[in-house]
Amino acid sequence: MNENMPESIKYYAIALDPIHVGSGGSRLGRVDLPIIREPGTNLPKIPGTSLSGPARAYTAMVTNKYIWKDGNKEYCCSGRGGEGGEKHCGIPSPACPVCIPYGFSKGTGFSMQGLAQFFDAHILFFPVASMGGPVWVTSPMALEGLGLQQEFKAPEDAFYPLSDQIRDKQKLNFGWLMLNKANEQGDTSKLPDKIQIPDNIKQRSILVSDKLFSHIVNSNLEVRTSVSIDPQTGTAEEGALFTYEAIPRGTVFRFDIVYSSGKTFRISGKELKTEDGGDVGVTWVKNQVEKGLGLFETLGIGGMGTRGMGKLKILNLKKGDC
Ligand SMILES: [Zn+2]
Repeated sequence: MNENMPESIKYYAIALDPIHVGSGGSRLGRVDLPIIREPGTNLPKIPGTSLSGPARAYTAMVTNKYIWKDGNKEYCCSGRGGEGGEKHCGIPSPACPVCIPYGFSKGTGFSMQGLAQFFDAHILFFPVASMGGPVWVTSPMALEGLGLQQEFKAPEDAFYPLSDQIRDKQKLNFGWLMLNKANEQGDTSKLPDKIQIPDNIKQRSILVSDKLFSHIVNSNLEVRTSVSIDPQTGTAEEGALFTYEAIPRGTVFRFDIVYSSGKTFRISGKELKTEDGGDVGVTWVKNQVEKGLGLFETLGIGGMGTRGMGKLKILNLKKGDC
């Protein structure tokens, strides 16, 4: 691998808890706290900033840069770094494992865009209960760019099985929706091996049209009701029941992160160097970010963390790297 060429890594992740990334909702909608959706498709998503924010905080925790002191200067490399970013250290050598991959801004002339660029996470497989057990649903759009071997024009009211386990089923009953197996079923409708998700999900996956996919996802989101707790008294606030949406446990996401080299960067005229004096290459940047990503499965992302939500396991992190 060329350490100076940007590298795009595709990550696969499964929700271990329901995930709530709020859109800052109002009381006008179906629920009080809706989740963020992609405008064009109406499908729920996790914005890149909702991935990079917690990843930054967790990398800072792992590398002891959350709040730290250098002499009598106090830095905080996680979060926004204070009002104007003045608490970000921005140290180029040895390169701060937080400020360099995730970027920093300490006012004019002293800022840097992160070397890791996060893209939105989209739903790849969505779990639905059927009478024959759970089934994971996907669509041509959800699989785009992943190399599905066959072009599908899925009929609106039918499914294509993507595994032998489902292949002998003629119908699937989702309780409120009955789907027939599509007639023109080719043998090549198989998920590419490079999609790194657990086999038990691959073996229970079906493909439906994009339109039906959006419909199935939006009809099967979790809607929960909760009670606001008054922080003063620790008791339920009167009339403070609220509802919120969440993407259910078992949902599989995909997202990309593009890692760039820091070799040509200068911060106040200084080159970026690693702890042992080497260049800040793509692998170094990736390793710092993956330290943070590895904590998604224990500390979670999104809102409602205290209500047992948000844990997201990245499925293709290399063991031992972090
Ligand atoms: Zn820093």
